Amino acid sequence: MARQIAFKFPLVHGLHARPASLFQEIARRFSASVSWENDRSNNRADGKSALSLIASDTWKDDPCRVVIDGVDELEAEEALKQFLENEFPGLDETPPGITFPDAQEIKIPRVIKKEKPLHFAGAGASRGIARAPVFVFDSFHLEPPVETFETVIVEKEIRAVQEAVNNLVRELSETMALSQNSIEKDILNAHLAIVQDKAYLEKIHEYIVSWECSAAKAVFETAQYFAAILQSRKSLYIRQRLADIKDISARVIVSLNCGCKASSTAAAASAIPLTEPVILITENLLPSQFILLDKTHLRGLVLSEAGTISHSVILARAFNIPTVTGIENIHKKVHPGEELIVDGDRGLVIPAPNKTLSRFYDLEMAKQRRISEKNAPFISAPGATADGKKIEVAANIGSVAEMESAFLNGAEGIGLFRSEWVFMNRSTAPTEEEQFDIYSMAALIAGKEPLIIRTLDIGGDKPIPYLDLPNEDNPFLGYRAIRLYDDFNDLITAQLRAILRASAWGNLKIMFPMVSCMEEVLALKKRLKNAMLDLEKEGVPFNPGVETGIMVEIPSIVFALEKICREVDFFSVGSNDLAQYFFAADRANPVVSYLHNPFYPSFLRLLKKIVSGVHAGGKWVGLCGEIAGNIDCLPLWVGLGFDVI
Ligand code: PEP
Ligand code: MG
Repeated sequence: MARQIAFKFPLVHGLHARPASLFQEIARRFSASVSWENDRSNNRADGKSALSLIASDTWKDDPCRVVIDGVDELEAEEALKQFLENEFPGLDETPPGITFPDAQEIKIPRVIKKEKPLHFAGAGASRGIARAPVFVFDSFHLEPPVETFETVIVEKEIRAVQEAVNNLVRELSETMALSQNSIEKDILNAHLAIVQDKAYLEKIHEYIVSWECSAAKAVFETAQYFAAILQSRKSLYIRQRLADIKDISARVIVSLNCGCKASSTAAAASAIPLTEPVILITENLLPSQFILLDKTHLRGLVLSEAGTISHSVILARAFNIPTVTGIENIHKKVHPGEELIVDGDRGLVIPAPNKTLSRFYDLEMAKQRRISEKNAPFISAPGATADGKKIEVAANIGSVAEMESAFLNGAEGIGLFRSEWVFMNRSTAPTEEEQFDIYSMAALIAGKEPLIIRTLDIGGDKPIPYLDLPNEDNPFLGYRAIRLYDDFNDLITAQLRAILRASAWGNLKIMFPMVSCMEEVLALKKRLKNAMLDLEKEGVPFNPGVETGIMVEIPSIVFALEKICREVDFFSVGSNDLAQYFFAADRANPVVSYLHNPFYPSFLRLLKKIVSGVHAGGKWVGLCGEIAGNIDCLPLWVGLGFDVI
């Protein structure tokens, strides 16, 4: 007897990629079929395919049912129910991307208002100014493959698709392995997911079998099928995934080697030849095309279609290519070879600039060059004041993906890896092995630079649904961070073991959050010691001298520093929480946010007490939290004597 879970869909942004792929992940663990039925749109999706789930057009408050049928339906029901009840409601974050001003909000410089040159306004999607000759590229349209009218042997076509898909999976995996750019890697990963998606492959098979058509035609029709569904969706983010499906389909068609080389499908899936510096203008650009572009010649990018969160645009930002999007038919409005200015800061495109505008933008570009030239030496230089006092500048991260840009922008280490992010947005806790992979990768990337991994800091405003934490009236004053460790012994032991094992791979340090007294310090050290003893017994390598520190974010600890200096190697002020607890003002409540005032004399005195207490104990202290990145406050932090910010 099939099982059913009925519920009202909770997410404001609809069923988008991330909740869909997490749902699919759980459904796939069971052999029972899982169908997602939306009683408003009357769409039925295969619960084991993210693409099919996204296409179900499910929106907030839609009445939905998940129908599970098969031998392990009871277990599947339990797992999916848990996920839908506990984790799903927390998955409604806004999709990645940066918000840039709309055309209406653009501030047109006075000189343009005065000169009134021909110019086009769109959305500035990647900052910076570029000036170079126009290169118009005939945009990509997924065209029906040329039919050969040969008799179709269904099995042969199915085999051909499988082979083409396998080839593409290999190609994408190889490109991903070589990629140096984390955003490029993410996008390639998304493409891998599409080409292996259950609903995508089933649809291709369905076309081949029911229409007895060629593999290429079936792939083309499948792309059209999903494109039509996504096109009608309310969410801009979902609509912008259209290009990814077309991109992948074009590449499968090319890989089928079906004699359609002359079509623009084939042209699109190959590299756009750039031989000199240009501004590339095209209707839309596939992510795979962007990846293949010779970036040394790509000065700027203007797209008539892509929004500011399409994958091509996300890539353009990752490679610092000034980009303007959303100027209708721009490819028809400019002439190949003519000079063009792309102003990604203001979302403006100016063809054939006159003398005055050329001068204006020459000066703007010179100003930007001067600023980055002035800053360039400091990126690789160690942090220090002009009179030579050293102050290390480290980055706060929540994932390994952020490390590359942190180091590229001059971080001298990772001052805080918020490990709880590794536990979020999933339906179960990561295993010791999974965590070891993540932390050791982080240690390898950091190399000899310090990497401080903070142990789990959950609770407060960082709930983890699968841990089933009780609701509290005052979560920030309650069951949070190390206060959970005794009750979640296995969870924290697995984390400590993973961190310790990773310590064999780099300059890793461990830090504990929310410590309020000496007893807690001693208990945490004992935990760590036990984990070390176990690893030692098992003959697993780790750094026995790994440095240990605590966060100073509860005021009571400030008055115990003298003794605690004998127990730990370093300290880091968690200013977000320290201010919250010092001023008794909830950090998440905007009504009292005015109280988080880093200039307030009593708070400065508190910081001074921390720095001098730690230094008197012969240890070092860093400052983290939002105020540490506030450039206006920098003289204060230097003056107070922090060793790291
Ligand atoms: C802090 O409290 O300042 C801090 C860095 O930690 P989190 O913001 O993660 O609580
Ligand atoms: Mg904190």
